Amino acid sequence: MDRNAPASTLVLDAKDVGRRPGSMHEVDLQAEAPADFGTEVLSVPQGQSMGLQVRMESVHEGVLVTGTVSATAVGACVRCLDDLDLPVDTRFQELFVWPDRAKHHREVDAEADEQDEHQIEDDRIDLEPVLRDAVLPNLPFQPVCRDDCPGLCSECGARLADDPEHHHEQIDPRWAALEALAPLASDAGTEDNEEKRN
Ligand SMILES: [Zn+2]
Ligand SMILES: [Zn+2]
Repeated sequence: MDRNAPASTLVLDAKDVGRRPGSMHEVDLQAEAPADFGTEVLSVPQGQSMGLQVRMESVHEGVLVTGTVSATAVGACVRCLDDLDLPVDTRFQELFVWPDRAKHHREVDAEADEQDEHQIEDDRIDLEPVLRDAVLPNLPFQPVCRDDCPGLCSECGARLADDPEHHHEQIDPRWAALEALAPLASDAGTEDNEEKRN
């Protein structure tokens, strides 16, 4: 991370809670969504406001951050391709380790490898990777505008929600060939009219 970049609002200040185990700091804040905060089909637009409710607790090794992130993801229905909004309301919890504690932490907890570990750097607690890990895997892979969205007609692409009766006559190609050879007599008028309507 570029140390000279202006502090993002997704960064907490560890000094707010301090190093005395047991101390606690709670904060509600609004942060702008970072770039690419979502999947290919659904994402929170960059710069859009996200609500964060955060509790920081000082523990022996670092700061335990627990919270909720609320935002609105936008995308398109996979069935009818209409735009859709999806409220995001996700809980997260992560331990941020003091740098001087990090090595010890890894020795105690063999499962915690360096990559998964979140460190406090220069008193900064960067929530962005934690929010990504909490939110992105929970976004629906195939979002729909509503559970019973009928989607599009496979024949012509019309929106079936606008026209629930929509259908196409399935004419057996063999009969179609016969009809072409011998135009139907007047007693088959009904069928004839139906064909013209389509
Ligand atoms: Zn739809
Ligand atoms: Zn159609």
